[in-house]
Amino acid sequence: MSATRTIPAPHIEEETRPFWDGLKEGALRVKFCNSCNSFHHYPRSICPHCGSDDTVYKDSNGRGHIYSFSVFRAAPIPYAIAYVTLEGTDISLMTNIVNCDFDTLAVGQAVKVCFVETEDGGAPVAMFEPA
Ligand SMILES: [Zn+2]
Repeated sequence: MSATRTIPAPHIEEETRPFWDGLKEGALRVKFCNSCNSFHHYPRSICPHCGSDDTVYKDSNGRGHIYSFSVFRAAPIPYAIAYVTLEGTDISLMTNIVNCDFDTLAVGQAVKVCFVETEDGGAPVAMFEPA
């Protein structure tokens, strides 16, 4: 098991507040564009694929697989940074993999979201752990 790092509270803009509120409620929400039927992340009001403002939040199922990862062992508390591709979408999120032995991580590994507390009672952040 990895030691726990202190995570700074995220700075929340109004545009992304539903995303952060979702994390507080235990849901990982991603943006979906009704015009071009595609997901995007990070959340934006304007679709980065087609420029439409007809975008909505959808709850993901919180499952995915590791697209790529790197373990920072020289940090005071080692951690694993990764891109995780969310199941049912074509998007990958930059995140951390936690609650695991870093030596067992592999590209393609199934993972599920977990919600990690941040400093000063800030909104939690989405990280992933082995499924
Ligand atoms: Zn679009």
